[in-house]
Amino acid sequence: MMEGFEMSKKEFDLYDIVEMKKQHPCGTNRWRIIRMGMDIRIKCEGCEHSVMLPRKEFTRKMKKVLVKHEE
Ligand SMILES: [Zn+2]
Repeated sequence: MMEGFEMSKKEFDLYDIVEMKKQHPCGTNRWRIIRMGMDIRIKCEGCEHSVMLPRKEFTRKMKKVLVKHEE
């Protein structure tokens, strides 16, 4: 089902690399999740700039998970 598929695309975890709806001004659209909690901190893979977003906002702005972190 499409709905289920959309949901699974939004599953993310610590150290996953995600794509956001808007790319970073540096031109990169790959972000690593470096902190999970009430707030989520992501770091740009291009310039190492990091931003903290409330979980709700992050979920809204995140497009998809590009690379799942393997244990
Ligand atoms: Zn950047």
